[in-house]
Amino acid sequence: MLRWSLYNNPETLVMAAKKPAEYDELDRMRHSAAHLLAAAVTKMFPEAKLGVGPVIENGFYYDMQLPRALGPEDFAALEKTIEGLKKENAEFRREEMPIDQAIEFFRSRNQDFKVELLSDLKAHGTTNLKDEDAQDVDGSGTASLYWTGDFVDLCRGPHVERSGEVGAIKLKSVAGAYWRGKAENAQMQRVYGWAFRTKEELEAHLKMLEEAEKRDHRKLGKDMGLFVFSELVGPGLPLWTPRGTMLRETLNEYVWELRRAHGYQRVTIPHITKKDLYETSGHWAKYGDDLFKIKTREEHLFAMKPMNCPHHTQIFDSEPRSYRQMPVRYCETTMVYRDEQSGELSGLSRVLSITQDDAHVFCRMNQVREEAEKVWDIIETFYKTFGFELSLRLSRRDPAQPEKYLGAPEDWDAAENALREILDAHKVEWVDGVGEAAFYGPKIDFMAKDSIGRVWQVATIQLDFNQPKNFGLSCTNEKGEKEQILMIHCAIMGSIERFMSVIIEHFAGAFPLWLAAEQIALLPVGEKHREPCRALEAKLRALGARPWLDESDESVGKKVRGAEKMKIPYSLVLGDKEIPADGDWNDDVKLAVRVRGTKDAVEMTLGELSARIKEEIATRKLAP
Ligand SMILES: [Zn+2]
Ligand SMILES: [Zn+2]
Repeated sequence: MLRWSLYNNPETLVMAAKKPAEYDELDRMRHSAAHLLAAAVTKMFPEAKLGVGPVIENGFYYDMQLPRALGPEDFAALEKTIEGLKKENAEFRREEMPIDQAIEFFRSRNQDFKVELLSDLKAHGTTNLKDEDAQDVDGSGTASLYWTGDFVDLCRGPHVERSGEVGAIKLKSVAGAYWRGKAENAQMQRVYGWAFRTKEELEAHLKMLEEAEKRDHRKLGKDMGLFVFSELVGPGLPLWTPRGTMLRETLNEYVWELRRAHGYQRVTIPHITKKDLYETSGHWAKYGDDLFKIKTREEHLFAMKPMNCPHHTQIFDSEPRSYRQMPVRYCETTMVYRDEQSGELSGLSRVLSITQDDAHVFCRMNQVREEAEKVWDIIETFYKTFGFELSLRLSRRDPAQPEKYLGAPEDWDAAENALREILDAHKVEWVDGVGEAAFYGPKIDFMAKDSIGRVWQVATIQLDFNQPKNFGLSCTNEKGEKEQILMIHCAIMGSIERFMSVIIEHFAGAFPLWLAAEQIALLPVGEKHREPCRALEAKLRALGARPWLDESDESVGKKVRGAEKMKIPYSLVLGDKEIPADGDWNDDVKLAVRVRGTKDAVEMTLGELSARIKEEIATRKLAP
């Protein structure tokens, strides 16, 4: 099964708080920065009540209750106080206290939220906070406090030694948050900040964010007319225009071309199913709330598919399989649906319908290595075409908690070893993700670094022992016995919507020619030039290119700017000078070609331009 997180908004993923147990040196600094923020706020508002202040990607936040709303206009003053605290170079001093004493201590300081956390800790041995938010649990019956100067916080650390070790800080924003994430609880103000080791690193990050904002796929997608939303259809249901659809299809054809070369076959399934399928797969119990459900006129319960694997198992299982037929590789690009709360829908990142370029390989344990190798090859070729740098993680089980995982330990060993062998054979660096595996199997995750340095989780090679077991999938082996097989889930783009949002921002909308929906803009100067332009349009189309003829009545200047805005790789202004007198667009016709991103037009013949375009399409060239 494909992980639900592929639907997730990358922004919310990034905002996830880290677990204190996983704090590295940089995280310790960032968490210490959160304390300095709380100390500065407490100086501004002595009555401030503090919640929790964990580390997040690139920084930290702190939840607090204040006598008035905080705004960006307060940031300069707070930042100045923080700088002063850094100069004092106060020690982060740990103090341990029995819980009852700690409760009294924070009560006397009117820190109600800390008292509540400690009372929970006393009553249940836990604060009931999600682990990553729990600052105080150490399981020993004592609470730990951290002092910096006269500021004190309930905290299990760890911290840097002294406040002078805290790096460059910039406060980012304030958002509303409920205490402990529950709407019935008190409203808090969540102050976000960035923290980096050095000023230079902070500035580089701020610059990257500025660039990211310019590239925002929601804005560019709208400007370029790639997708639209309709109030009648509803939020979270993007409608793809011809231009957007051309991009989707071009990407999809590329993935198919790579898969076909590795022996994949395409299949087709309906978008709904009887409840029975998901009861057998286990999804009904696990993800029931997220399914779109449909009741038929005969009162049977159906569901829209949230994933394709269960359907695909039924095609595999429709005939007895001999080991000679294995492996079997199915792929299908198709939409899946998830019932999200409408308040959570955003752009292309969080939607109700997404398109997966899904594939499932049904294979034997001894075929895992070779099959995963094929998927790897596809992923590597695909992502390199876009200029992404890939990094890798092996997500495997936590050997200390065997009860968390399904399947025999020896199968897990064999599967993890097969994946590890591939990683080693490729001589790449990879991160060892102990305990990161899903309960149903280990996987390799691929992360892509984009043109402005952001890292996105993209493809996975996910092994699965669970669905083959639930559906009783097997083949007859060499000894004539039934042998349970396993499945590999391997979407290359993940979801087309998510991948589109990543590449729109990666290229800032300026797609390589092979991918661009419109490749050559034909811009007639006047009315009488339109007809000859149509002849050129037909000629370019016959080459396999995608020309676009501007039929508007705008001035040439406006047409040129329009083509620039649509980021079309080449444009041709066509008037008396350029159009051949006899109307014959032969290869020797001289053209002035504007190349996207450059100022002056380049002289070339139609023959040269055609050859160039053909080559860029055939080789999927990154830049002209
Ligand atoms: Zn799947
Ligand atoms: Zn702390």
